[in-house]
Amino acid sequence: GSYNDESSSDYVSKIPTIKFTKLFINGEFVDAISGRTFETIDPRTGEVIAKIAEGDKEDVDLAVRAARHAFDNGPWPRMSGYERGRILSKFADLIEQHIEELAAIDAVDAGKLFEWGKAVDIPSTAKTVHYYAGAADKIHGQVLKMSKAFHAYTLLEPVGVVGHIVPWNFPSNLFAMKVAPSLAAGCTIVVKPAEQTPLSALFYAHLAKQAGIPDGVINVVTGFGPTAGAAIASHMDIDKVSFTGSTEVGRKIMQAAALSNLKPVSLELGGKSPLLIFDDADVDQAADQALLGVMYNKAKPPFLDAYYIFTNQGEICVASSRVFVQEGIYDELVKKLAEKAKDWVVGDPFDPKSRIGPQVEKRQYDKILSYIEHGKREGATLLTGGKPLETKGYYIQPTIFTDVKEDMLIAKDEIFGPVMSLMKFKTIEEGIKCANNTQYGLAAGIITKNLDVANTVSRSIRAGTIWINCYFAFDDDCPYGGYKMSGFGRDLGMDAIHKYLQVKSVATPLHNSPW
Ligand code: NAD
Repeated sequence: GSYNDESSSDYVSKIPTIKFTKLFINGEFVDAISGRTFETIDPRTGEVIAKIAEGDKEDVDLAVRAARHAFDNGPWPRMSGYERGRILSKFADLIEQHIEELAAIDAVDAGKLFEWGKAVDIPSTAKTVHYYAGAADKIHGQVLKMSKAFHAYTLLEPVGVVGHIVPWNFPSNLFAMKVAPSLAAGCTIVVKPAEQTPLSALFYAHLAKQAGIPDGVINVVTGFGPTAGAAIASHMDIDKVSFTGSTEVGRKIMQAAALSNLKPVSLELGGKSPLLIFDDADVDQAADQALLGVMYNKAKPPFLDAYYIFTNQGEICVASSRVFVQEGIYDELVKKLAEKAKDWVVGDPFDPKSRIGPQVEKRQYDKILSYIEHGKREGATLLTGGKPLETKGYYIQPTIFTDVKEDMLIAKDEIFGPVMSLMKFKTIEEGIKCANNTQYGLAAGIITKNLDVANTVSRSIRAGTIWINCYFAFDDDCPYGGYKMSGFGRDLGMDAIHKYLQVKSVATPLHNSPW
């Protein structure tokens, strides 16, 4: 990549004024019971943005009490789906009216590109809320056939109080993906955003109140995982937990649920997603896809369609961190990648020239750099990058390793940074075997013009999402989630709503039925 020289920058940092720093419980912003706060850090500089209320177990208790009261006695689960949908639509409209401010908040809190946030993250956050607003009056059971003369049917009922635990890489999208379907289902919720990125969740809580979502329906408890997060996972009065984050913490959530009230959990965890590029691929296009994913819509600046291993600083759970190239085009593709990686400019997320911002925090930055060092020591060849930027903030050069072997650590562990591992394969069968040689199963990509190859490979890879000749093609109607240690349960689509519903069978005899 090439890098921004700070002195030549002509952009204006649109640093937002931080308005919301307290817990949001029962419709009010309140301090933590302990009075404690923690600092949220600007990854561009390492400096403090704001002090945020540090919620703990007692605050989670208060939030759950509010959510329980709103569920047991309040209007939200009792109003018609149509009415809930109307309020959720208003919420989505309000998000659309604050796109610039929300994009700026995620830029300073998470290091996400501001232009990207304005064009992609925040509009798609609003769109997800709209999608579930439209779904709220389309939730219904089935009429069942019994072998005797009975009238039988299923009722779909909201599961109750839901705890949502969210990571930092998509603070807005992941908030909406969890919150919106659960609210559409009629649940009341307690959300814990990641400690690295608490700001936008508090802003969404404010907008939800403005939209008319009743008090107690949405509660946001900011704080740390082992305290506030763990209190949600083990709470006796939370009916379901939906978690997105690391596999390691996912295991703890499941354990805490098992040891408390056996609440159902759904887990969206880590990944090490493969991209298979076959010999018949257009090398130029495949190189773009490997770097950025080609969902070309020429009307937009190309980088806005370019989700990939370097996109979002590589902090994407479905990032194609393992790229397998069929041997016939391997050398040519490596050459192309080296050329094209130069376009990936690293710099301040407010600079429109930047395509990669800083990593979210020091810990993550150190972890990525240590994986890069490990890759060098293990004998992989560094094609591009491999170093941090010589500036303040947590910037890392986009890094490509070639000659990677499947048993190297960089080919096995989720790095969650802008680091690509390139490997070679010969036959289709070998490609499938390589793709499946992982404990994870979140997503995979296939680049080929051969329909038979595409169909065979997509049915043979054990992963929740397959992209053929594209990558990161998310939309609200496409459920996504993991196989294997990438977790279980699906976000997005109508599948996600069913995570927040109980199915009740009702049967009653028919005495004088004509049939
Ligand atoms: P993390 O698991 O450390 O943290 C995620 C959330 O869990 C945070 O809110 C954190 O405070 C909380 N948490 C931490 N310890 C906890 C505990 N003991 N009990 C309850 N909650 C706890 O993950 P991270 O490092 O913040 O995020 C990166 C990970 O998330 C990556 O592994 C990535 O693949 C994964 N991720 C997955 C998806 C997906 O959809 N599958 C999406 C984004 C990120």
